[in-house]
Amino acid sequence: MSFEHLGLTAKTLQAIAEVGYEFPTPIQEKAVPLLLEGRDVIALAQTGSGKTASFIWPLLELLSRGRAKARMPRSLIVEPTRELASQVAEDFAVYGKHFNFTVAVLIGGESFVEQEKKLTKGVDVLIVTPGRLLDLYDRGKILLNDVKMFVIDEADRMLDMGFIPDIERIAAFLPPHQTALFSATMAPPIQILTQRFLRNPEQITIMPSIESGKNIEQYIVRVAEKNKIKALESVLKDQKLAQAIVFCNRKKEVDAVYKDMKQNGFKVAAFHGDLTQSSRNDTLKAFKEGTIDFLIASDVAARGLDVEDLPAVVNFHVPSNPEDYVHRIGRTGRAGKIGKAFTLVSPLEEKKLALIGKSLDKIIEEYVIEKYTVSVDNSEKPVRAKRAPQSKKVVDPVKPVAPKKSPPPPKVNPQKSTSIDEGVIGFGDHIPSFMGIKGKET
Ligand code: AMP
Repeated sequence: MSFEHLGLTAKTLQAIAEVGYEFPTPIQEKAVPLLLEGRDVIALAQTGSGKTASFIWPLLELLSRGRAKARMPRSLIVEPTRELASQVAEDFAVYGKHFNFTVAVLIGGESFVEQEKKLTKGVDVLIVTPGRLLDLYDRGKILLNDVKMFVIDEADRMLDMGFIPDIERIAAFLPPHQTALFSATMAPPIQILTQRFLRNPEQITIMPSIESGKNIEQYIVRVAEKNKIKALESVLKDQKLAQAIVFCNRKKEVDAVYKDMKQNGFKVAAFHGDLTQSSRNDTLKAFKEGTIDFLIASDVAARGLDVEDLPAVVNFHVPSNPEDYVHRIGRTGRAGKIGKAFTLVSPLEEKKLALIGKSLDKIIEEYVIEKYTVSVDNSEKPVRAKRAPQSKKVVDPVKPVAPKKSPPPPKVNPQKSTSIDEGVIGFGDHIPSFMGIKGKET
């Protein structure tokens, strides 16, 4: 299908041509026509599927039909994190460059003065994190009576962060409107939300594409916990990696790895949810500009972050669930480039690794560092390599497990369901139990 067939107008098509996309992604093929028709949509899709454009393009068309009034935004996009909100605003600027729409971004941790000026004049698109919006709404600074389209992005992430009650409050304030809800999974609280607030929605399921992992060479490095820093530095040096994101599971681990690497002369920065927004913004800018080589990050950087040509991702710890693994490694190997993903695995993390192995249909190979690699049997003793080590030696592949045939997705009445199966590497329609786990932004 070509972009012309999606039903978009010339100004949007021109912007798409200027970005250089050749074809719509599956989510764009499905969601754009439905949203243009005015339908409510539930889209089960991951970051990297092209979902942001799939709601921005129809929104541009909808906004062309009217004008903004003071303090009454015409559309509302709710994002779980500040980074995602900023990124969506950046995408809107790219796709909407031939229109003249006003965008305000209201996120925690940033001064409100400039955004308030915009709001007073009238904004077409309001991009928010839930807490900040409710704060301003409760103080009477915003009226939501003119919202025509409501986008709830990354609903599963909202759930993890405890934002679903906020979303329900926001939805209850809105006048009749069109809703687009995006989520990687359909956990029960999200299902309930859609039943309460969406009108006869069409559900689209986009399986995680084989494409998402195709350009990523994935390796595990089996090391004792105490040798992880040395192993990390060895991988970065041996592989001559100019840049990488190093993911840790907790904020205090981010700080510890950051400190060690800094001491050892690497150009590093720490990135997690406890840092101020302005420091997070500065760090990201420096990383994108290349003045920082290694970003030591929590999962707050795992979704949506788009760093052009990032050559590698390293998991300093095995992520707690397969979904986080997919998101983390998806920061590399983007836009047709080849990326590498290394996961450092201590013997105590083998179980978590097995869980990830089961949900991929791709072989994760073992990368041996002669000095530090330990055997699988929990001995934590270094493995003696017989041959002279190459900088990269691949042995003993972790056995991939073919994706299981999964049960059909839970029925959400009363809506139709359309499924696009692009070749599954992820969870299929199965919703693993960990999706119900609650947590906080790390
Ligand atoms: P998202 O799922 O919104 O996070 O998008 C992931 C990436 O896909 C972004 O870097 C977009 O620039 C890119 N993208 C969106 N639509 C297309 C398309 N039709 N062709 C190629 N890349 C795209």
